[in-house]
Amino acid sequence: MQKLLTPEEIAVGAGADGATHRLPSPRVFAGRAERLRQLAAGHAMHDFLLFAARLADAQQNALDHHRPASRPDPADLARCRRHGMPPLDAHGADLPAGWADVLATLTAAVVPHAPAGLQNAIAGLPDFPARRLDALARAILRAEEDLSNPVELALAPLIGASLQVLWTARALALQPADLPAGFEGGQCPACGSPPVASIVRIGDAGHGVRYAACSLCACEWHVTRIKCVPCQNTRGIAYQSLEGAAGTLHPAVKAETCPDCHASLKIVSMEKDPLVDAFADDLATLALDMLVDDSGFHRAGRSLFLFTP
Ligand SMILES: [Zn+2]
Ligand SMILES: [Zn+2]
Repeated sequence: MQKLLTPEEIAVGAGADGATHRLPSPRVFAGRAERLRQLAAGHAMHDFLLFAARLADAQQNALDHHRPASRPDPADLARCRRHGMPPLDAHGADLPAGWADVLATLTAAVVPHAPAGLQNAIAGLPDFPARRLDALARAILRAEEDLSNPVELALAPLIGASLQVLWTARALALQPADLPAGFEGGQCPACGSPPVASIVRIGDAGHGVRYAACSLCACEWHVTRIKCVPCQNTRGIAYQSLEGAAGTLHPAVKAETCPDCHASLKIVSMEKDPLVDAFADDLATLALDMLVDDSGFHRAGRSLFLFTP
């Protein structure tokens, strides 16, 4: 449940730009794919980032051909706004009809480029019980997946990618005023999912405005700078970045660490690099997660392309 702010806090949080939330761009996956390709060049994880770019291309194609989602009932939207509930709730929601068709489309698009482990898992998909696939998708939406089976582990990013397409389509049917205003919580005000990372954008007034970027529906919500997104603490916040022999690597990406809840969430900054994408730049800086993990902080950002047993 998101924390309500006082009207004064809302006014301060809105800043000069007045925007507390941003709905996704209809080209979100294409932009992500382009950034992933750019980051892949010369990167130690080149093949992985290039595969992620191909998957993002397939997501954009699936989104472009997806029947536009309908806007939720106005009475439901009003009730959600009143109670600060996410109107596209991912946790208790039914799976959208035909979700497995999106999975099949993405799978067909990426299978020629997939690593061997994923190719084997995809080959077994026709025999995979539909009920088990549904259960996996629901567990991913609730962030409760318990994946030890190697086939399920291999398929999880494809299932996550399919759910991203469906929830982004649903978010595109919203209007900014549909979202509960004035929340600065740890979960997306549109769907209730955790962020993948946060992004500092250049506001209309030319100063940096920080948003948390949803891991599922690609909506962004305003969060104050120098404040822990998961627990809202403002004391003792510190930053870590990747240092190389020639200076800071990936200077547009820092990890914000909180001494209260020991969480770490990345900040990618358009002030440092106007082409950053929260999802892509997070994926390209997994070495930074290892660094903060070594110093006792756990990763708060959630990437649906990354699953660990
Ligand atoms: Zn969301
Ligand atoms: Zn915290």
